[in-house]
Amino acid sequence: MAPTTDLSLEDIHALVLAVLQAHGADAANAAAVAETVTRAERDRALSHGLFRVPGYVKALKSGKVKGDARPELNATTPAVMRCDARNAFAPMAHKTCLPALIEAAQTFGLAGVSIQRCHHFAALWPEIETLSEAGLVGITCVSYLPWVAPHGGRAPIFGTNPFGFAWPRPGQDPIVIDMATASMAMGEVQIAAREGHAVPLGTGLSPEGELTTDAAEIAKGVLLPFGGHKGSALALMIELLAGPMVGEAFSYESKERDNGDGGPAQGGQFILAMSPDVFSGTEWAAQTERFVDRYGDIDGARLPGAKRHAARRDPGPRSVNTPLLEEIRALLP
Ligand code: NDP
Repeated sequence: MAPTTDLSLEDIHALVLAVLQAHGADAANAAAVAETVTRAERDRALSHGLFRVPGYVKALKSGKVKGDARPELNATTPAVMRCDARNAFAPMAHKTCLPALIEAAQTFGLAGVSIQRCHHFAALWPEIETLSEAGLVGITCVSYLPWVAPHGGRAPIFGTNPFGFAWPRPGQDPIVIDMATASMAMGEVQIAAREGHAVPLGTGLSPEGELTTDAAEIAKGVLLPFGGHKGSALALMIELLAGPMVGEAFSYESKERDNGDGGPAQGGQFILAMSPDVFSGTEWAAQTERFVDRYGDIDGARLPGAKRHAARRDPGPRSVNTPLLEEIRALLP
């Protein structure tokens, strides 16, 4: 078991803010990322919290990501907008586009945004939970560097390509599905490699193209999609939605133009917001609760998102991997 150090959520936020500002992020950009990292640690979503900070700093240091970016939002139609993130980290783009997206979806019932020139290094639930807090259904996806082989193949073409779906439940935690279409997110494989844990057979292939449970070998080889040909088909759908649909690159194109600094590559994000009030009237919320009650009666079943939401209710300190904390503190001047 790796050593850990207890840190309050306030201290985590202050540390991230200070580190990013020390490497060229202005107050607004640093605050947007620090909030996302702190929310991940709060929910114990470790692969997208402090673990990502060294990568955020690498991208700032190489100049790939602009720490003073001001993303620009333009309406294509009243319900479809484009956000040029101008090489900001994704949380800064979300600060720019989500309020307008929410307003448009509440007005028209459905609205979408194409985010371009963006660097996404986080989980997807922060942006779609923001939509569900406004009573909207959110769907989003991003592609990433090509680490995943298509079903039947051994060479990578897909990113780990997560998609997120959030369903509002007024007065209660939303239902949130947020998952990579790879059998496992690369961040999780890297953490398993760091901790010396095996991963399930089928997670990925070694550099020689062999199935293995050795996380360090998979980190050097390729991941596989979850669920065989079905996960592979969803990964393909996400390549299209987060690439040509939003005017951005496929995963392999992102890699080709990336500077390899270890920070998040430039890519696109597709976000759709829908109002169930407009689609169906007022019955949907009560109908949802009847479904949730029936679901909850099934022994062994829990809702997606429930683990994170339960973790969130603990306001106490979080156990942070000590070598990671030392690495991050060493980034302070
Ligand atoms: P998981 O496999 O851990 O979880 C996927 C989903 O299934 C979650 O909504 C989770 O809810 C739910 N779930 C897990 N176990 C159960 C269960 N027993 N019963 C019901 N629901 C369950 O996620 P991944 O490893 O696939 O992805 C981790 C994160 O990585 C995601 O947040 C994703 O956005 C992010 N990612 C980001 C990328 C990027 O480029 N920015 C690339 C790839 C991934 P719960 O949270 O409550 O456990």
